Amino acid sequence: MAGTGRTIYIAGAGIAGMTLALALAKFGATVIVAERNKKVQEVGAGLQISPNARRVLNQLGLDKAIAQKSFEPHGIDVYPFRATKPLVTLELGNIMRERFGAPYTVMHRADLAEALYRACRRFANIDMLFGVRGFDAVNHERGTSIIVDEANGNARSARVHAFIGADGVNSETRTRVLNGPASTYSGYVAWRSTINADLLAGILPGDRTSVLMAPGFHMVCYPLPHRRQFNIALFVKEKPSRLNPDDPPKEPTLPWAALRSKMLDAILDAGKGSWGYWVCNTVDAPVWSDGGVGLIGDAAHAMLPFQAQGAAMGIEDAAILAPLLMTEPDAASAFRRYEAMRRQRVERVRNLSNSNGFAFHLEWPFTLARDATIALQGSRGHLKRLAWIYSYDAAPEATVPPPDRARDLH
Ligand SMILES: Cc1cc2nc3c(=O)[nH]c(=O)nc-3n(C[C@H](O)[C@H](O)[C@H](O)COP(=O)(O)OP(=O)(O)OC[C@H]3O[C@@H](n4cnc5c(N)ncnc54)[C@H](O)[C@@H]3O)c2cc1C
Repeated sequence: MAGTGRTIYIAGAGIAGMTLALALAKFGATVIVAERNKKVQEVGAGLQISPNARRVLNQLGLDKAIAQKSFEPHGIDVYPFRATKPLVTLELGNIMRERFGAPYTVMHRADLAEALYRACRRFANIDMLFGVRGFDAVNHERGTSIIVDEANGNARSARVHAFIGADGVNSETRTRVLNGPASTYSGYVAWRSTINADLLAGILPGDRTSVLMAPGFHMVCYPLPHRRQFNIALFVKEKPSRLNPDDPPKEPTLPWAALRSKMLDAILDAGKGSWGYWVCNTVDAPVWSDGGVGLIGDAAHAMLPFQAQGAAMGIEDAAILAPLLMTEPDAASAFRRYEAMRRQRVERVRNLSNSNGFAFHLEWPFTLARDATIALQGSRGHLKRLAWIYSYDAAPEATVPPPDRARDLH
């Protein structure tokens, strides 16, 4: 294979970084992942994995590991503000498999991170460095050089085929190495909690996702049966002046208290004391690479999570970029082709996420038109409307790793 023998460094062992590591390792590259944290992500909450992302993960051999720890909701109940019954239930479950060839699942993100990490560990040609203190990458006439300050104080330097920043929304690869822009505040914060399922029995259905829309905020709830929990994400508009990173608020404060539905208040109550607060920043980087240094995932294009596609876009990026890095004559042309293939799609998904935020948070009387449209589209309208997202096939041609490179740790 053309690219075997290529050494590629990745900053960040998040979802995008580990997916890329796996995809590259399957093509025979030597991959080093440099992660700032001491271990893989354990924090965070739930993640919806749509068929477009799942197909890539399946192709990388993760189908069983994900199936064991994830759940396929039967549908999405959509509640307008104060409604006691869903306006519509958008069908998921079997129909997603039938239409898009892979399931639509929900899972805890720590379980996905663990599955990716275990899969990476089975490759002798993936080296994971945790607790790294810093890194730098420099393009020069004869290629790209990197230096990584390891946890033990050693500095590791190397000439590499490529260096990829998969280091998230506040990527140093983007801001420091590529002189790109800092992330910007979107105007929204997310409150997240995983709540014991017993506390929500009779309040939320245990077999589906529930979306509660309201003027200026919305809530997404789904079961995580493997953990006997519900994942709750509450998205609220917040003025920048009220954000204080040194003293974050402890509990969500929402408008319309007197008008809220019993369901919403019961969920807020059940989550008391467990809410985590997350400022939603976005990234609009004018370029995703320079020479042998490039970006994937949130580092390149963090977006609002209102179509639940941020991680999916990073997974797709990895699937598209890996074969290019292994087959193009140099990394710079691989990055150029990758950006040409990805940018339009990512922007389309970003625009949809933004317009979802607008629609979810509408006030009366504009809600009347929105709700009428949702009702008219019915329980299967989303299958057609969102087919361009779910049917996208980024899956790399997975090749069996050479026997001396595969290491089974079971
Ligand atoms: C509330 C909420 C709900 C969401 N729900 C969904 C959903 O349902 N489905 C979906 O697809 N997306 C969802 N998203 C989006 C998704 O979480 C992100 O798009 C995704 O996690 C980005 O993955 P990533 O690997 O690019 O970045 P990250 O997950 O941020 O990983 C970056 C990694 O880089 C490491 N790192 C950072 N800086 C350095 C450094 N200097 N050196 C070394 N390592 C570094 C970090 O420690 C981390 O491990 C949601 C987002 C939010 C906020």
